[in-house]
Amino acid sequence: MEVNVDVAVIGAGPAGSVLAALLAWRGARVALIERTTFPRDKVCGEFLSYDALPLLERLNLVDDLDHHGSPTIRRCRIVGRHRQYEFLLPEPARGVSRLLLDDLLFRKAVAHGAEPWEGWTADSIEAHSVALSRNGEHVSIAARVVAGAWGRWGRFDAQLGRAFVRDRAHRNFGFKRHYRREPASAALQHDVIELHSLGRGYLGVNDIEGGLTNICGLVHSSRLAGHRGRWESFVDMLRAEEPSLETMYSAYEPAQDDFLSSEPVIFRARRPVEGGLFMAGDASGVVDPLTGNGMAMAIQSALLLAPLLLRLLANGAQRAAIESEYAVAHAAMFRPRIAWSRRIAGLLSHPTALDNALRIARGNAIGGFLVRRTRSDHAAVARLADVFFKSAEGRVQSAGGAPVGPS
Ligand SMILES: Cc1cc2nc3c(=O)[nH]c(=O)nc-3n(C[C@H](O)[C@H](O)[C@H](O)COP(=O)(O)OP(=O)(O)OC[C@H]3O[C@@H](n4cnc5c(N)ncnc54)[C@H](O)[C@@H]3O)c2cc1C
Repeated sequence: MEVNVDVAVIGAGPAGSVLAALLAWRGARVALIERTTFPRDKVCGEFLSYDALPLLERLNLVDDLDHHGSPTIRRCRIVGRHRQYEFLLPEPARGVSRLLLDDLLFRKAVAHGAEPWEGWTADSIEAHSVALSRNGEHVSIAARVVAGAWGRWGRFDAQLGRAFVRDRAHRNFGFKRHYRREPASAALQHDVIELHSLGRGYLGVNDIEGGLTNICGLVHSSRLAGHRGRWESFVDMLRAEEPSLETMYSAYEPAQDDFLSSEPVIFRARRPVEGGLFMAGDASGVVDPLTGNGMAMAIQSALLLAPLLLRLLANGAQRAAIESEYAVAHAAMFRPRIAWSRRIAGLLSHPTALDNALRIARGNAIGGFLVRRTRSDHAAVARLADVFFKSAEGRVQSAGGAPVGPS
């Protein structure tokens, strides 16, 4: 079977689903291709930064977060070996599971008119086509534009010859599990995210919907030697090593059967346009997870990319100019926060250095300053979203025929 679309989006995480929702809303024929089926879990701290919220508000998804009881997070507590520092976040964030959020975003894209290819794996790509399969069935999609939103690590990164794939020295791995508080414990308050330091890594702890708490960590691969992929054994080692982690973990009991672990997380620069493909989200650049800004950045990259792709669909001759415009806008918006995220993660991954730094940390100013350096502000994203939603231009003549889109 062969299908024609304007845009084929590979991957329905926050980047892919938001990009598909925005493009479809403006009349483009979009295939949204996702190898898993929703709801699906994912390694993530599940802290949704405040700078993701303006666009979710305009997609009417914040009401859904409220409806499902996603907690509001107002404070951040940094927990070192011997010292702690707590500060107010510049604006309130949310705790929300990927089981819930990614499902909501995917359904929103489909409601806006994106064609769901759920459970289909993209097997090979070119600048204007994608081959998909599902249980022995094969489909070829011809697209005027292919967008890569497959996350931080996928088969196409090797196919495109992206340099970070060969980096074996700087691999980190993420792990997470949902927990319930022990009834008798005086554990974490609902409106706090805690960041715990450990050698060559860190843990984030925050509440999500359903009265659950997510505990999610990132560690350098060198710390995993001898555990043979058994996260239980690694976490036992951490608890024995860091008394503050023992205190924290003992306040919870697991609410999921097992740990979930991630693909390699490699912090090497990547290009937002590669081989004629437009990348969004982690596929275009990875911010250190400690910031809790990866999902916001994924959503914002979709917001940056969508109007450019609409222009490209309207005038294919502008392709080279649009590719470089996206690369420049992407670097301006995300490169500084990626650099700051690595500096701060370096400190959090060294418990002794962190304790020293925490000696002088007081009040909200220093915490607020660092938080702002690793994200956009709410107003800047709101302005970008308003420009997109208020503009009447760029409704495209769909590959399927007559223009479609909002009335
Ligand atoms: C340990 C850890 C903790 C984190 N904590 C946070 C946090 O608290 N807050 C935060 O905002 N961010 C956090 N992040 C980062 C966040 O998870 C990512 O930035 C975010 O998921 C990026 O979204 P995305 O849409 O780019 O990619 P993804 O969410 O990775 O989605 C990519 C999708 O593409 C699909 N896919 C891949 N290949 C194919 C294929 N060939 N065919 C079809 N589908 C395919 C995948 O199944 C997946 O659904 C964390 C990351 C890690 C590793």
